[in-house]
Amino acid sequence: MTKKYDFLIVGAGFFGSICARELTNQGYSCLVIEKREHIGGNCYTEKRDDIHLHVYGAHIFHTSNERVWKWINQYATFNHYTNRPIANYKGELFALPFNMWTFNQLWNVNTPEEAQKIIAEQGKDIVGEPQNLEEQAIKLVGKDIYEKLIKGYTAKQWIKDPKELPKEIIKRLPVRFTFDTNYFNDRFQGIPEGGYTQIFEKLLDGIEVRLNVDYLADKDAYNALANKVIYTGPIDSYFDYQHGELEYKTTRFDHVKKEYPNHQGVAVMNFTDAEVPYTRIIEHKHFEFNETEKTWISYEYPEPYEAGKTEPYYPVNDAVNNELFSKYQALAAAESQVYFGGRLGEYKYYDMHQIIERALTMVETFTP
Ligand code: FAD
Ligand code: UDP
Repeated sequence: MTKKYDFLIVGAGFFGSICARELTNQGYSCLVIEKREHIGGNCYTEKRDDIHLHVYGAHIFHTSNERVWKWINQYATFNHYTNRPIANYKGELFALPFNMWTFNQLWNVNTPEEAQKIIAEQGKDIVGEPQNLEEQAIKLVGKDIYEKLIKGYTAKQWIKDPKELPKEIIKRLPVRFTFDTNYFNDRFQGIPEGGYTQIFEKLLDGIEVRLNVDYLADKDAYNALANKVIYTGPIDSYFDYQHGELEYKTTRFDHVKKEYPNHQGVAVMNFTDAEVPYTRIIEHKHFEFNETEKTWISYEYPEPYEAGKTEPYYPVNDAVNNELFSKYQALAAAESQVYFGGRLGEYKYYDMHQIIERALTMVETFTP
């Protein structure tokens, strides 16, 4: 029996929307269904008082991958924004990522040699390979920075003791012995002019999209519509948690309008002590050098994740969860009608540029 569509795509985030665009360009018929009331997944932006608000937290595009940079530039013009967040520890401000300015502010040192000496001294108890995030952090930047800029922030962000977290998480941040405050090492960086949502409007132009539709609520009926399914939701929920729940981290974003033009003078301020209940305040206008009279800020409050009730923003890629994920991967491999992809389908802490690369590569192997 011929089915109505070649592909049913579950989720209108980057992974799903790229698949939809590429497969449509190849002449296949696609239907995209999305649980939320909008396209764009976690990259969705919304215009408020002439400011593009990043509804699901700050999204800064950065990549060294030329293929990805060329690809995304077909859909947006990027401005020259460079992420230079500030750490606020009990009202004291420090430069991020960990660089010569941070070392100067903390220890009043002026040379890389002096900074390296202090870090080596403070990290001397960590012998051999670090076993967790705390050990890795102390080895990389010493105890003072760990105590002031990492411990409280990390414990809040993941609702866990840093001793129980994988060391890879902290390696996302550069440690530099130069006066360079760029948060990323990548060759290309910026914010799309006009926000992210317009990228998804272009990607999905001319493709049938149904919003407010939960695939898992009626899986069989949706499967009957298409030869193949591309699923970008949480892999454990697809299999009805039969091996147990994977762990995710979620966040509450409180968006607040302020009746004055400039709240904190920077797009991203991290609150690194344990007492302040939020991790970051984002001031969206600074992503686009916007000169409006009002401003919009967002507080990020980490919250415990509840499957099916809250949004699974971050996979927790520790050994236990990666092991559980491999069991779901085995089930996925046996599922002949369905391809799994994206941050939730692959259960990996992927940034946007990595998802774009994965989608462009994987879609080439998808057949109806
Ligand atoms: P998603 O964007 O999550 O899209 C999946 C879609 O599937 C969602 O819209 C969801 O509603 C839908 N869906 C799920 N289940 C169902 C179902 N049953 N039925 C129908 N639809 C369903 N990356 C960067 O490069 N730079 C950054 O600065 C950055 N900051 C981030 C900040 C935060 C707070 C978060 C959470 C992520 C950040 N990222 C950043 C990562 C970026 O958001 C992801 O890499 C990207 O959004 C992943 O795209 P995706 O399509 O895999 O997933
Ligand atoms: N981190 C920290 N202090 C900071 C910023 C980051 O301790 O001021 C740690 C924290 O554990 C965080 C990790 O570094 O989870 C990675 O930071 P990143 O900014 O990449 O997190 P994301 O943007 O993914 O939320």
